[in-house]
Formats: sequence, structure tokens, C-alpha cells
Amino acid sequence: MSRGKKIYEGKAKILYAGPERGTYIQYFKDDATAFNNVKKAVIDGKGVLNNRISEFLLNQLNEMGIETHLIKRVNMREQLIKAVEIIPIEFVVRNIAAGSLSKRLGIPEGTQLKRPIIEYYYKDDALGDPLVTEEHIDINDWASMEEISIATDTSLRVNDFLIGLFRAVGIKLVDFKLEFGRIWKDDEKRVILADEISPDTCRLWDVKDERKLDKDRFRKDLGGLMEAYQEVAKRLGIMPEGTNIKEINTKISKNFKIKK
Ligand code: UDP
Repeated sequence: MSRGKKIYEGKAKILYAGPERGTYIQYFKDDATAFNNVKKAVIDGKGVLNNRISEFLLNQLNEMGIETHLIKRVNMREQLIKAVEIIPIEFVVRNIAAGSLSKRLGIPEGTQLKRPIIEYYYKDDALGDPLVTEEHIDINDWASMEEISIATDTSLRVNDFLIGLFRAVGIKLVDFKLEFGRIWKDDEKRVILADEISPDTCRLWDVKDERKLDKDRFRKDLGGLMEAYQEVAKRLGIMPEGTNIKEINTKISKNFKIKK
């Protein structure tokens, strides 16, 4: 499937025009960043795993009636997606205290919250993606109250579904980030799930020993990031035992030259 011209390059993905109007090709890079781009690295094969894991999770959501932008994965690094206008808000759902919640409010990491909560962050690198309220979103017209309500309800449904899915393979879903986009059809607008769901955007802990199986391995210099992401893929049953992701990555990187 041929991709068109580059539309946007983010920290972990590149968007290209798709083969038809209203479609994009989403390319998963190996770049890892943290702390608003202060910490950077290239981790061989990470994009391949995130592409596969996100495809698996978004397909399941599509099947249960939660519309996502994913049309299909087209190869090891690319997905064909519906073009949406991204709402500039990160929707973070939390079940267990960690990361910025623990830091900001002094709740010890690992504390079970009495119910899932949702937080909104304004996507703006220059401002450092600040935590914002519904009223901040409203007065700046980043999204309508109706859009926030749809995205919030959907985020909590996604949470219920993912908690069960991960729990079944011995993983605790601590928290995660979602993004939503607007899509129009015959003057009718829908708000659908976009971006990705992967160990880059979730905190995932082993149920038994609370071992981190997510991007915190990079943020906290714990090492073993690829092993952790592969473990998640294996447990989800989407990577056969013995798959050598490095070998696959070397083969496919020869076939991909990212257009600058
Ligand atoms: N998250 C993300 N992208 C971001 C910020 C956060 O995917 O730009 C995810 C992060 O991986 C974690 C959740 O959202 O699963 C909550 O992150 P937190 O607010 O604790 O921020 P961080 O630890 O990244 O400072």
C-alpha cells in the first residue's frame, strides 16, 4: 500500500497521506522520548511491537462497538487509519496511583484508587502538556462540553474493557492515555478513538511482582524495555514464542526509508 506525502511527524509516529481521501498511514518509529522530549533514545523494534499491540487492542475495541480510527495494520510498521481532526486533549485514566499523580498529590505509587478517575491534559509541548479542567477546555474552545462528555464516557468504557483483558493475562492496568478525534460524514460529526494504545501509553504491572512492563522502564532507566514490551505481546497471544524481534526489525528496516 503506497503512502503519500508526510503530513505530520510526532515523537513516536509519522503520519502520511493515505491511499484514499479521508485516510492516513500511521508509521510507528523506534524513537522513545520522556519528560517533554528532554530524554530521548532509539530502541530497535519498539515501533514494530507498538504497532502490533495497538492493532490488537484497537481491533477489539472496534469489535465491541467503540469506534476507533484503525482500519487495518498494513505491515510491521504501518497502519491504515481514518483521518480525524485530533482534539488537543490527552485523556488520562487512572486506576492505581503512579507517575505525576503520585508526585503531585503525594499518593504513594501503587495505591489502589477507590474508583477510576480521569484527568485532562492540554497537548502543548511549549506549555509542557499542563493538567487542565473542563472549564479551561471550554473557555479556550479546545473541545465542546459534548465532545468532552463523549470522550470521557468512552475512556471509562475502554478502561473497564482493558482492565479485564489485561487482568486475564496477569497484568494490572495502572493508568493510560487516550486521544480522540473528530470525523465528519454528511455534515454529521462523530468523536472516535485515535492515536495508539500500547506500553508507551499505558502503565502495565505484572500482577505477581509488580514488575513494570511499560515505558517507565525507559523513564526510570530500568533497562529491558524491549523484553517487557515483548512480554506484553506474548501474554496477549500476538507474538509466537521464539520470535526474534531484533532480527525482524533488521530485515524490515532495510525496506523502509523514512522520507524526510
Ligand atoms: N502518558 C502518555 N503520554 C503523555 C503523558 C502521559 O502516554 O504525553 C501516559 C503515561 O504513559 C501513563 C499515563 O499517561 O500511562 C499517566 O501519565 P502521568 O501523568 O503519570 O505522566 P508521566 O509519568 O508521563 O509524567
